[in-house]
Amino acid sequence: MPVASRRRIAAHAGVQAAALSFVLSVVGWFAVRSLGIDMDLSIFAWATGVGVAVAGLVTAICVEFSVGRRISQIVGALDAHARQSSLLRLPDLGDDEIGEIGRALNDLLANLSSLEARMIEQGQELRHTREELILKRALSLKSAELEQRLRERALLFDIVRASASEQELDGVLEDIANRLGRALDLRECLLFLVDSGTRRLTLRAAYGFEKPGELLERIVLFDEGALGKVAETGEALIVENLANLEDGPLWEPIPPEGSIAILPVCHHGKITGVMAASRAEPSAFTEVETGLLEAIGDQLGLAIRHTQLFHELRRGSQHDDLTGLGNRRLLRIRLQDELHRAERFGQSVSVLAIDIDHFKALNDRHGHPTGDASLRKLAGLMTRNLRRIDTIARIGGEEFVVLLPRTTPEEAAQVGEKLRSLVEIAEFPGGGGQPGGRLTISVGAASLRPDETGADLLARADTALYEAKDRGRNCVVSAIQSADVARWATTSRI
Ligand code: GH3
Ligand code: MG
Ligand code: MG
Repeated sequence: MPVASRRRIAAHAGVQAAALSFVLSVVGWFAVRSLGIDMDLSIFAWATGVGVAVAGLVTAICVEFSVGRRISQIVGALDAHARQSSLLRLPDLGDDEIGEIGRALNDLLANLSSLEARMIEQGQELRHTREELILKRALSLKSAELEQRLRERALLFDIVRASASEQELDGVLEDIANRLGRALDLRECLLFLVDSGTRRLTLRAAYGFEKPGELLERIVLFDEGALGKVAETGEALIVENLANLEDGPLWEPIPPEGSIAILPVCHHGKITGVMAASRAEPSAFTEVETGLLEAIGDQLGLAIRHTQLFHELRRGSQHDDLTGLGNRRLLRIRLQDELHRAERFGQSVSVLAIDIDHFKALNDRHGHPTGDASLRKLAGLMTRNLRRIDTIARIGGEEFVVLLPRTTPEEAAQVGEKLRSLVEIAEFPGGGGQPGGRLTISVGAASLRPDETGADLLARADTALYEAKDRGRNCVVSAIQSADVARWATTSRI
């Protein structure tokens, strides 16, 4: 409470007291006069003036000390609370009503203090809870990210593992498409190989179709829509809603709804393939997932190259450069496989040993390049006229072995005769200069006997071949199935 106001109250009380004492003095004057007592007016006036002044002053001082100061303290406390939220308590202001007001105010301030303390506590709790929530959210985000990374690593690892298997490329791609489809919850997953020379993509693996086998080998041209565009530009393309494509359906086997991510598969900057991953919902691929698919695309590029290199190397180590036929190594592997199969399923296995007749003469007359061309021609002729399951190996200069699975001795002799007669009527480079004016072959045939090794079988076929040479060449001799290798079965010669 401002001092001026306090003093105004005190002055007011003093004035009232002075007025009252003046009235009392006047009443006293008349009372004295009515009793007949004579009093000097000037003395009375002096006495009244002094009395009125003293009464006013004393009252003002008393009011100031007994009421004004205490009220001022109460007002000050309220004012301090209102202005600065001060919770300072008042001193004891006595037992009267003002004292009561002071105590009530103190109680109020005490309540406010505890309320404030509670609010502070609650505020802190709230802050902690909020911080906890933020931490929890960050944690769950981190663990989701971690899970994603783990899934990513596992997938990439799977792709590496698939490509490290000794499967053919198509098997590897099918494996990868199935893994991706299942792990990423895709509707379809398609893997195309790109031939930038002919500007075409060929579908090599498909996941999510009823009959994927019917789609394989389908061709998409570079100029045909989004798939071709990705193959041409090497830039990933995300179609948020397949239903909204302006140029019509993306590719006929893919339903025109949902979303699709189409990514290039690259190796050393060269686009070797295209991967397409679709989901039934529109805008179903998050940025993180697109990133993952891109990483998979890179890994896939490596996997494809790795598989191709592996097969090229294997092919190189098991095939003959000049004719493209198998070599001794491939023959040994296949022979071993067939012997196991024959033993297990009780099937017959036969081999043909083939040697070109008088080949030295052809070389001497026409030179090695012509001889090489004849060897290549013979290889092609045999490949075209034998089954896919047969193995044709060039085991020496002009010597070949044909492995015939599931073939009886009679059938082997027939196959040998078929080849012999086909060679005889075919035109070979330099063939006209050979004895009889034709290039010919001699064939020895042998079929697996119980408890015989592969080497034994080949040795018997070779012996039969020598017998064919002995018999004048251009004929087929079959090693008879009895133990007596000195006896020979059919000798055919036209
Ligand atoms: P035979 O009827 O007894 O089998 O007589 P041949 O002349 O075919 O047999 P020989 O073993 O005397 O000669 C094999 C010839 O095959 C020797 C060589 O000139 C030829 N030759 C071996 N390897 C190659 C090759 O890679 N290229 C060519 N052009 N000729 C080869
Ligand atoms: Mg020969
Ligand atoms: Mg020879």
